[in-house]
Amino acid sequence: ASAAQPADSRNAQQILEDIFGYSEFRSGQAEVIDHTINGKDVLVLLPTGGGKSLCYQIPAMVRDGTGIVVSPLISLMQDQVEQLREAGVKAAYLNSSLDQDDYQATVQRLQEGHYDIIYVSPERLLQRYFLNMLAQTKIALFAVDEAHCVSHWGHDFRQDYRSLGQLKQRFPDIPVIGLTATADTTTEQDIQVQLGLDNPLVYKGSFDRPNIRYRVMAKYKPFEQIVTYIRQQDGSGIIYCNSRAKVDDLSAKLHRQGFKSAAYHAGMDADERAYVQRQFITDKIDVVVATVAFGMGINKSNVRYVVHHDVPRSIESYYQETGRAGRDGLPAEALLLFDEKDSARVKQWIDQGSMADRNAIELQKFAAMEAFAEAQTCRRQVLLNYFSQFSDTACGNCDICLDPPRPFDGLETAQKVLSCILRLQQQAATQYVIDVLRGKNLKRLQEAGHDKLSTWGIGKDQSDQYWHNIINQLIHRGYIRVDIASHAMLRLTEAARPVLKGEIGVELATPRLEIKADKPAKTA
Ligand code: ADP
Ligand code: ZN
Repeated sequence: ASAAQPADSRNAQQILEDIFGYSEFRSGQAEVIDHTINGKDVLVLLPTGGGKSLCYQIPAMVRDGTGIVVSPLISLMQDQVEQLREAGVKAAYLNSSLDQDDYQATVQRLQEGHYDIIYVSPERLLQRYFLNMLAQTKIALFAVDEAHCVSHWGHDFRQDYRSLGQLKQRFPDIPVIGLTATADTTTEQDIQVQLGLDNPLVYKGSFDRPNIRYRVMAKYKPFEQIVTYIRQQDGSGIIYCNSRAKVDDLSAKLHRQGFKSAAYHAGMDADERAYVQRQFITDKIDVVVATVAFGMGINKSNVRYVVHHDVPRSIESYYQETGRAGRDGLPAEALLLFDEKDSARVKQWIDQGSMADRNAIELQKFAAMEAFAEAQTCRRQVLLNYFSQFSDTACGNCDICLDPPRPFDGLETAQKVLSCILRLQQQAATQYVIDVLRGKNLKRLQEAGHDKLSTWGIGKDQSDQYWHNIINQLIHRGYIRVDIASHAMLRLTEAARPVLKGEIGVELATPRLEIKADKPAKTA
């Protein structure tokens, strides 16, 4: 609070009503605010739109002194400060966008105790002269927004966030409140350690986004799948790819098909990126094809779908990225194109990483992502369980709930595939195996004499996509292994032997092949 106002003149409830115009706190807010006002450390985990800002803004106004808010994004700082000023709060920001005079004037007023709230970038805050200056200033609290940035385990690590642990050492009596939309336990614990929070209250809200429908499809011909999919959509969407090259390629191809699409990745210059973002926000373009660089700070509430062309490396990333859909609360969709080969490649990349202890955790994280993609039970349950929000009822708004897997006796089908792989000396990749199964008259098959194999054409009655799906199921069940080190050839595992001999049964799920037109989603 500013020096002019005695601390007890305004309480939290009054501020909520008078300044923010709301009548009651959302669940969790009151408890968090109460703790912070009482000078205790707090960690708040709430999804985007959950109402984190009030959790530090109100205590900053109630407590004596100025609330110092660390925020990584200049644009967000400016928005927040503008809104606060409009509501009559004494707020300002300090970052590289200010010229020297404004900067000095703001610092001066800060020292005089003029402000309720100051937003500051981590690199400014951590400058020695700035910390020394703060030591002479009355501080209400430190708020660390986007607190997951302090953690290597988070999806957006920032080096200058790492040093924020200094705050607690230097100002042990000032409460620190960390806030993030990240929910996983590893990151949560790391934030506590890195910020040096002292026995904090950890408040974790619900991470469910009931209006988002989760769907996973076997990635088969991704370009065609994506075109079919976005033709069925009204409104705008984001397509995430795992490399800049893929982003450029897919975006160009979509453009050629007549879609209003644009690319976005960190290899483009800042102006170009800002332009694409603006075009998207103002609905001039419908589709942004992007890497993960398209993310934090994108404030568009009516994104109707998010497609993952490639599997993300963790559920946290997946959750953050899909969370950009449907912020307006209206029905939205998250579609993941999943391929066992992608998955094997990701594991190989992680394995080749340089830090062994880190690789183990990353592998664990990826295993959870894989489990989500391969789940035969409600996807939302898998997701929420990962965030330790156990739920025992199926959601009714994911592909599994809407179209449950239909099992069939798959022994004969499995035998066709496994014996075909065996006849090919385990020297062929998926598409080649499918070509033989379907008996395609391709020159390279004939030249290799593979049209003479006993398994030639035994799968004629089904489509490529059908066999693709079956092969993925067999990989998932552990009968087939993808040998990434040698051209993704399919190899049989020990477990395949009893199947080939017919000694055990194999239950498979009937492949879902086409992308069905959207049914209206259940709303929250
Ligand atoms: P986050 O930072 O968690 O993404 P915000 O703090 O921006 O979320 O809040 C999201 C929206 O919810 C804002 O429009 C905010 O004004 C509103 N909001 C926050 N708390 C309340 C409340 N107690 N009652 C009504 N609306 C609220
Ligand atoms: Zn479900």
